[in-house]
Amino acid sequence: INFQKAQFLTSASNLSQCPEDIGYEVAFAGRSNAGKSSALNTLTGSKKLARTSKTPGRTQLINFFSISDQQRLVDLPGYGYAKVPEEMKKQWQYHLEQYLSQRQCLMGIVLMMDIRHPLKEFDLMVMQWANSCEMPLHILLTKADKLKYGAAKQALNKLQSIIGSYHNPISVQLFSALKKTGVDELRVKLSGWLQE
Ligand code: GDP
Repeated sequence: INFQKAQFLTSASNLSQCPEDIGYEVAFAGRSNAGKSSALNTLTGSKKLARTSKTPGRTQLINFFSISDQQRLVDLPGYGYAKVPEEMKKQWQYHLEQYLSQRQCLMGIVLMMDIRHPLKEFDLMVMQWANSCEMPLHILLTKADKLKYGAAKQALNKLQSIIGSYHNPISVQLFSALKKTGVDELRVKLSGWLQE
C-alpha cells in the first residue's frame, strides 16, 4: 500500500456522518500527546495529514483519510487532557463506542501509548472494548527513543505478557517517529488489515 496517497476525506462527529460503510478501515486512537499525529505523519510521509486533524474544531471529530476508494485511515479524537469536562468525555466515549461497535468496515485499531506511561485508564478502556467486540488491536509503544534499548525491550515484554490475558488478537511493537523505527512493522500490519 502506498500510504503516501492518504488524503483528507471528511470529518464526523457521530456515526451517521461517517462515510459510507464500505471497503476497509483502520482507526488510530490514543491519549492526547501519545504521539498519534507524529505516527500518522511518519506513516504517510505527510505533515499535512495529522495537522488537519489538529485544526481547531476538528480535534473532537473523527477524521477520515482515504488511501483508495476502498481503504481508509481514521484518526479518532485525542483524549485525556485533564481540562476536558466530564460531560465531554462521556460524549466522546459514547461516539467512540458507537463507532467501534457498529462500523462494519473497521478491520482493526492502532492504539498509541507513550512507552514511558502505558496502560492509562483510556488505554485499558480501548483494550477492553476491542476485546469485547473481538476487534483486532495493534499497540504502538511510542517515543521508544526516550528509553535505552534494554528498557524499551523490557516495556515491550511486560506489555506482551499482559495482553496474553485478552482473547482478541493483540499485537504490540516499539515505535519512534523521531528515529523512524517500527515503521515497516506498522506498514505490514496495516497492509494485512486493509486486505493488501
Ligand atoms: P498527539 O497529541 O498524540 O497527536 O501527539 P503528537 O504527535 O503531537 O506528539 C506529542 C509530543 O511528543 C510532541 O512534542 C512530539 O514532538 C513528541 N513526540 C512524538 N513522537 C515522538 C517520538 O517518536 N520521539 C520523541 N522523542 N518525541 C516524540
